[in-house]
Amino acid sequence: MSTSSASEHTHPRIAIVGGGLAGLSLLLTLHKRGIPATVYERDVHRNSRGRLGGNLDLEWTTGQRALRENGLEDAFRMHSHHEADVIRICGKAGVPLLEHGGSDPKDESLKDSRPEINRRVLRGLLLDAIPEDSVK
Ligand SMILES: Cc1cc2nc3c(=O)[nH]c(=O)nc-3n(C[C@H](O)[C@H](O)[C@H](O)COP(=O)(O)OP(=O)(O)OC[C@H]3O[C@@H](n4cnc5c(N)ncnc54)[C@H](O)[C@@H]3O)c2cc1C
Repeated sequence: MSTSSASEHTHPRIAIVGGGLAGLSLLLTLHKRGIPATVYERDVHRNSRGRLGGNLDLEWTTGQRALRENGLEDAFRMHSHHEADVIRICGKAGVPLLEHGGSDPKDESLKDSRPEINRRVLRGLLLDAIPEDSVK
């Protein structure tokens, strides 16, 4: 007698190699749409290589979209830095002499800005949004 679940009959078994930002985004996208998948990652811990972090700036139509369409827009807003693409050159007294980039801070939309988020933090947000047992 077969013990396989109904979803195994309706979906192929999907393995994603690498639990980086792309692999985890794909897993979350599938999971949110009811398609089971498993990520295989060689790092043993979410903070492995965390020191190699650095910040990523995410655009509205690419990185932000992947988060927005998978229910992580609020989390992204909370952990990203809206003003990160501003370049400001100040005089000795701290008075700005030149300012470049940046959107209106009062503008709630992130469409025209590229907020930065720490790579390790972003990986954590994605990992927290997927079932623990879907990453091996
Ligand atoms: C210096 C730099 C700056 C960048 N800045 C930006 C930016 O500002 N904005 C932006 O959107 N993008 C930026 N990027 C690009 C962004 O980092 C990549 O698009 C993104 O990380 C790709 O995700 P990934 O999952 O394909 O790869 P990665 O994030 O590199 O993840 C790959 C994962 O696969 C695992 N792995 C590898 N081989 C195996 C294996 N055989 N078995 C199991 N696991 C394996 C690794 O351990 C790793 O966790 C930048 C990239 C670099 C290098």
